[in-house]
Amino acid sequence: MEKNCGGLAALVRGTRVFLLDMDGTVYVGDEPVGPMAKTLAAIRASGRRVVYCTNNSSKTAGEYVRKLRALGLYGEGDLVYTSGMATAEYLRRSFAGRRVYLVATDAVRAEFAAAGVPLCAEEEYAGADAAVLAYDTTLTFAKLAKINELIVRGRPYIATHPDDVCPAKGVYPPDVGSFIRLLQCSSGRLPDVVCGKPYTVMGECLTARLGVPAACVTMAGDRPHTDIRFGNNNGFGTLLVLSGETSAEKAAALPASDAPSAVAASLNDVVPYL
Ligand SMILES: [Mg+2]
Repeated sequence: MEKNCGGLAALVRGTRVFLLDMDGTVYVGDEPVGPMAKTLAAIRASGRRVVYCTNNSSKTAGEYVRKLRALGLYGEGDLVYTSGMATAEYLRRSFAGRRVYLVATDAVRAEFAAAGVPLCAEEEYAGADAAVLAYDTTLTFAKLAKINELIVRGRPYIATHPDDVCPAKGVYPPDVGSFIRLLQCSSGRLPDVVCGKPYTVMGECLTARLGVPAACVTMAGDRPHTDIRFGNNNGFGTLLVLSGETSAEKAAALPASDAPSAVAASLNDVVPYL
């Protein structure tokens, strides 16, 4: 596949599923990027599937669906897939029936339980077979001390995603990558597995769930080191959009690991090629 803007037509032609990053790709803050609702409708009408793919494991898929619907960006047949869902799928596959101490919001804990992951109650944490770290925006010292104890005692240690900060209005707050470094300092360990972008667990879970070969999937996003590297690591096509945090200058000077199949000002540029 050509690694330049001319490759956009070929990239779109070979795509059956668009994996879409959200912030910086389909909306910025609470504002859709240009005529995004029309663009997504055109993608669906062409027979291609829209799958939203996010590393943020502080919210459930249902919470994202509500936000996307409110912005007019969620349509029939669309799917939201979070790093939390990929982690639950990984646990079901690799730790079937084993009990997990999960550091997460209550809504995300309920999502893991509904996905068939047996969770330890807070007071039973010491009996957990694995320690799992999600983006818990209700994190407390007590939870940190418990997961640290399990990590020090050598339990398998899994994190949903590696982002250091979470995009937000004003100063970006600490995300799971920052919690990982805190726990590295106290326990001496890094996670055995990180599931979200740019790694492969989430990619494998997605292609299995969607039933499509990796070569028919295109990941579109605004962050080269997470979105584009994720696509490249998983054998997907990749589309870097300049509607978020990457400038044209930065896009022209990316290392091979983060170089996209094509670059576009925004996702709206795919419409003529559908
Ligand atoms: Mg983004």
